[in-house]
Amino acid sequence: MITSTEIRLKSRPVGVPTAANFDVATVDVPAPGAGEVLVRNRYMSVDPYMRGRMYDRPSYVPPFQIGEALQGHAVGEIVESHAEGFAPGDLVSSMFGWREAFTVAPANLAAMPDLFGKLPHVPGINPSAFIGVLGMPGLTAYVGLLEIGQPKAGDTVFVSGGAGAVGSVVAQIAKIKGCTVVASAGSAEKCDWLRSVGVDHAINYKDGNLLAQVQAAAPKGIDVYFDNVGGEHLEVAIEVARQGARLAECGMISQYNDTAPAPGPRNIIMVVGKSLKIQGFIVSNFGHLRAQFVADMAGWIAEGRIRWEETVMDGIAQAPAAFAGLFDGTNTGKMVVKL
Ligand code: NDP
Repeated sequence: MITSTEIRLKSRPVGVPTAANFDVATVDVPAPGAGEVLVRNRYMSVDPYMRGRMYDRPSYVPPFQIGEALQGHAVGEIVESHAEGFAPGDLVSSMFGWREAFTVAPANLAAMPDLFGKLPHVPGINPSAFIGVLGMPGLTAYVGLLEIGQPKAGDTVFVSGGAGAVGSVVAQIAKIKGCTVVASAGSAEKCDWLRSVGVDHAINYKDGNLLAQVQAAAPKGIDVYFDNVGGEHLEVAIEVARQGARLAECGMISQYNDTAPAPGPRNIIMVVGKSLKIQGFIVSNFGHLRAQFVADMAGWIAEGRIRWEETVMDGIAQAPAAFAGLFDGTNTGKMVVKL
């Protein structure tokens, strides 16, 4: 019998989540029976959408329950198998994050893209990439930009949350597609990193006057806005949008901890005169593009055209702090918890 430490939701956060909203518990993990495997997680993801699951209200994913272990993407290693086709040492992907180990039937495990050993000249690629650049955030960037934003070569693309897991991939795919890229982020260091991966204009929104900064970076306006932040960023994007621009609404992290609804963009009327197309999307509705995404992304990574950063926190007990860190910009690139 092995034990597993897991993180449970203790109370629903009001405002910014704190350690007091979480419990750390240790449980016995049952030995795998016939047809089951025992998995020890190696990396788990914390993602902004999880904040939405902490509210007790219907959404596109059900709310987390008080007293229960949280869930999320994880990459783990099989340590014991009684299931055909699964052997100790195999890496598997699951939604059983926020815990160290679990026993499950393989039907609950997602297949890992078969890329190990195929990108040998890319230093630093390891299983954590499959909860980041090659996982859900990467796919979000890919479908949100290409399917919703529909950039054309020569377009100017503005992405907020530019130094995050999704935003940094959006920025680089937009460069691959021949666009000029304006990306915003919350520190000078993050902006330096964005420039180092090819972003044309990196803006530190904490320097103030976001509108003037974006106008200076894109004097002719923008053709695509990829929104990770909402609020003032969305208002600025509408302001600088050119005729017929596309606004891909991926997320609005600036509002996830609001205790009352935020006022809408004050300039929303411009949507009419500029014939703007504003469309939200949820990555899970684009599973049919996953294989194409993995193939494209593996190619771009191999060519050195997509690079990524991870901010890694160590140990399951750090998971709540890692999650809270998403809301104060602790992470550059993907926030990852190593288990
Ligand atoms: P990130 O890696 O981008 O981490 C969050 C970042 O948001 C922080 O690092 C911080 O960076 C920034 N941030 C936090 N608060 C604010 C604020 N008030 N104003 C401006 N920036 C802020 O997270 P992800 O890449 O995982 O997610 C990015 C967005 O994509 C989120 O909105 C998320 O909900 C959304 N998403 C949507 C999906 C979908 O299917 N629609 C799927 C996955 C993600 P900084 O230092 O720059 O402030």
